[in-house]
Amino acid sequence: MPTIPRVAELSANVPISIGESCGVFGVFAPGEEAARLAYFGLFALQHRGQESAGIATSDGEAITVYKDLGLVAQVFDEGKLASLTGHLAIGHTRYSTTGSSVWANSQPTYRDLGDSSIALSHNGNLTNTARLAERYDRSGASTDSELMTQAIADAISDTDSLQEAIALVAPEFDGAFTLAIMDRSTVVGLRDPMGFRPLCLGRLQSGWVVASETAALDILGAKFVREVAPGEMVVIDETGVASHFPFAAAKPSMCLFEFVYFARPDSTLYGEEIHSARRRMGERLADQAGADADIVVPVPESGIPGAQGYAARSGIPYIDGLVKNRYIGRTFINPSQSMRDLGVRMKLNAMPGELGGRRVALVDDSIVRGSTTRQLIQMVREAGATEVHLRILSPPYRWPCYYGMDTGDRSTLLAAGKQVAEIAEYLEVDSLAYLDLDELVAATGAPADGFCTACLSGDYPTEVPISGDKFILERS
Ligand code: AMP
Repeated sequence: MPTIPRVAELSANVPISIGESCGVFGVFAPGEEAARLAYFGLFALQHRGQESAGIATSDGEAITVYKDLGLVAQVFDEGKLASLTGHLAIGHTRYSTTGSSVWANSQPTYRDLGDSSIALSHNGNLTNTARLAERYDRSGASTDSELMTQAIADAISDTDSLQEAIALVAPEFDGAFTLAIMDRSTVVGLRDPMGFRPLCLGRLQSGWVVASETAALDILGAKFVREVAPGEMVVIDETGVASHFPFAAAKPSMCLFEFVYFARPDSTLYGEEIHSARRRMGERLADQAGADADIVVPVPESGIPGAQGYAARSGIPYIDGLVKNRYIGRTFINPSQSMRDLGVRMKLNAMPGELGGRRVALVDDSIVRGSTTRQLIQMVREAGATEVHLRILSPPYRWPCYYGMDTGDRSTLLAAGKQVAEIAEYLEVDSLAYLDLDELVAATGAPADGFCTACLSGDYPTEVPISGDKFILERS
């Protein structure tokens, strides 16, 4: 039986926006310009967050931080990178899961502690933010990431090293936290004991890298060493890499949506290439839910590998009937509904020459709120499709995520409390089918018990908070 979250206690004020995981990065590379490496690493992690970008560097003497709202390429230029001196760095691309999208909430966070100053980058969302806020000095802290920074800063005066301070306080954090943390001579990578969000370790000729995804290693020519294990802390300094396990053991529960949507197709997770896994999802969906259609059309870009798999298995020709504007970020960056509606048309266009007069099997990775999908179906029909059969590469998304996917409360989720037939009616499709959960998990090729499936199953692997209010610290 799914564990039902205490939805009645959720704040009615949760903003209707859905977000995505942030990207974190860390590098220790003597003799190299770490800021430049971080810049390229973040560039490869841009898809994980487009609200703000930041880099902190150290030359062994002092930490310098530069961050701003915007894309990596907008925030940094040659001059800014040149001012970020040193051989160690951490970086961050942000999509807000706690706190609003303002400069003060961008990362890396920084605490000036003299010789022990620290900077921190966070991917995920804590589930005990309110409790931590009572415990730690939260002056100026409007995000869970700031609170963690404060907790570590407080512990530093009682301990001898950054890693000891982290090990002391990290067991107090609940929920999802993949972190890259630095002081002026050390870079630390940390994954929460459930391993909700990914982190990998790579080897450069001259040093070491930690990054949310392997694509960030590839761009640097770094060799993939391994995934940082759930509950593991890797400490990188001039002596090399050391591994510590500061938490009590927990069950690995990586976000299944990393495979469905978040991760880049060219990254690997659990040793599986995401593109191949998505293609297998399409193959399984074709087996599970065929369609009387003339063409298979993907919703670019995350639907593409699944549509390829669906077409190959069903024998129905694959056609690119929708074009995505490559120069726009993912949708949902705009907070208002009217802007979001515009966002879909800014992002995607349908081609009558490909779709006209045809029965279309339209393949996408997921439906969350349903607003994009509904408009898309209208666009496909306006382009002349005679029938639209929607095939979704994951099960109905019915439960809010508390671990870093900013999907809002249940009222914003199209499938919450609805049967598939009702969803089909709302979307105005001729047929609708979702991939079953066990089929999806099998398609990943990863261990079946290694995932958090809460948004799709209602099975939350940890206690969930009584409020999903992402502005909790700003309001109270
Ligand atoms: P909608 O119909 O409004 O729910 O939007 C569905 C689209 O949102 C799909 O094409 C997904 O690829 C995409 N999507 C899924 N999860 C997220 C997320 N967390 N942030 C932004 N877009 C997402």
